Amino acid sequence: MGSLGASNGANGVSEEPFLWDRSNLPKQLFINNEHVDSKNTKKLKVHNPKDGSLVADDIAVAGEDDVDAAVDAAEAAFPAWRKTSASQRRRLMLKLADLLEEHGDALAELTRITLGNPAASMSIFEIKYTAEAFRYFAGWTDKFPGETYPQDDGFLKIVRNEPLGVTAGITPWNCPLIFMGLKAGPALATANCFILKPTEKTPFASIAIGTLVRMAGFPPGVFQVLPGDGSTGALLASHMRIRKVSLTGSLTTGRKIQELAARSNLKRVTLELGGKSPAVIFDDCNLENAITWCVNGICGMTGQMCYAASRVYVQEGIYDKFVEGYKKAIEERSKSIGDPEEKGTMMGPLVDKIQHERVMGFMDRGLSQGTLLTGGSRVGDKGFFVQPTIFTNVAEDAEICKEEIFGPVAVLNSFKTEEEIIAKANDSNFGLMVGVFTQDITRAIRVSTEIDSGMVGINCVSITFLVAPFGGSKESGMGRENAINALRMYTEPKTVMVNLTY
Ligand code: NAD
Repeated sequence: MGSLGASNGANGVSEEPFLWDRSNLPKQLFINNEHVDSKNTKKLKVHNPKDGSLVADDIAVAGEDDVDAAVDAAEAAFPAWRKTSASQRRRLMLKLADLLEEHGDALAELTRITLGNPAASMSIFEIKYTAEAFRYFAGWTDKFPGETYPQDDGFLKIVRNEPLGVTAGITPWNCPLIFMGLKAGPALATANCFILKPTEKTPFASIAIGTLVRMAGFPPGVFQVLPGDGSTGALLASHMRIRKVSLTGSLTTGRKIQELAARSNLKRVTLELGGKSPAVIFDDCNLENAITWCVNGICGMTGQMCYAASRVYVQEGIYDKFVEGYKKAIEERSKSIGDPEEKGTMMGPLVDKIQHERVMGFMDRGLSQGTLLTGGSRVGDKGFFVQPTIFTNVAEDAEICKEEIFGPVAVLNSFKTEEEIIAKANDSNFGLMVGVFTQDITRAIRVSTEIDSGMVGINCVSITFLVAPFGGSKESGMGRENAINALRMYTEPKTVMVNLTY
């Protein structure tokens, strides 16, 4: 579908209709403010995870010529875009945020039909959070000025934060619009052009965003969308004229992107990767609070969250009580598994057959690695539903204790001392998030210092805020999203030295 002939209304926002819905799915590339066909013949196929039915088998995959066309358009747009005033960039981003909310129901549905995230929980939340991300970063357009340093030696030093040029974001399937917003937001706020490569599993809302970008009034080439699979992502990561790539995805893909960037033009790389996040529950915690966070931390998004609380460690004194309450709450949550379109559903299916088989594989092998406390089975005979599943008495080196499962499967073990639990929590290649549950603030701060992790929740876990850096240590990633830290990822400091001595 080509341009709908956007005309700007009195408020500067185009009055063109937003036509995308489940009977008219967006499947094309969005280049230079137009939805256009790919020059590539390869197509993506997606299914509805609630019943396995085919949703589409003709979604474009951007190939080399398409990527080049998008980069050409972005390069052409960049000189004028970087000179666009901060207030105008802010206005455009705020308009985009409003349009996202205005068309929130349609966008949420476009993701739900291939992700299965329930309408009642994550589906609408995702749209609101994405709109907030654009608003948050819109506020930064004129608040990241750089620095000056003393001229006592006769030289004034000015440091300007300059945009990189053409940047790219590659997103995963679990919250595709949120991750788009966390990348496009800081990229646009700092006057870069941005190319989005959405996930191949849940791409529709990301492709539809193109229409909103045009309606908001962004100049052609500033914000483009190239659907595709890993091959499209690899073309972006190895492109000689793309100056930055930001991935949210798996460790395997992160390694490949880092390598492609190094082998091409040494483009800047941000990686938001996986996790195996521990929740550490001390004897003196508020038990009910700890249970609530741990249940949400493994059942939210059907466990398909990078910072899922997938390793739960409970101190001996309250272990039995915790097990009882946690099991009960998990089994209660199981009752809300169902059709993501239904109001009462809190847990939907896993995203697809591949993920279903992968998670079921971990659950089956887990039976020989620990004691099954609850769950362990698929739910129903169609679609990709699984029970939230807890294993106890799992050895620290067992596969289910070490590897990211990315489903509603947690291991639950006891511990005696603070020293012991710090060592266990740190015994992981990942370092994304940890939750520490205690009413002793001194201990909470001490443990938060000792645990090697990008983020620590005290009396909470699996949570994030736009105003504070998000990201992990060790193999959980490189760089940060959110906060001022995200702006640093899309800019290069330029030092200008002024000789005042002559
Ligand atoms: P994935 O790595 O399979 O895919 C992510 C994206 O990378 C997709 O768009 C995919 O097409 C692209 N890609 C695949 N191969 C590529 C290549 N060779 N070069 C360039 N791009 C390539 O991840 P997924 O299965 O979509 O998402 C699940 C993973 O994402 C989990 O590991 C999860 O922990 C992680 N994740 C991390 C965060 C975070 O913020 N830290 C958030 C959500 C998900």
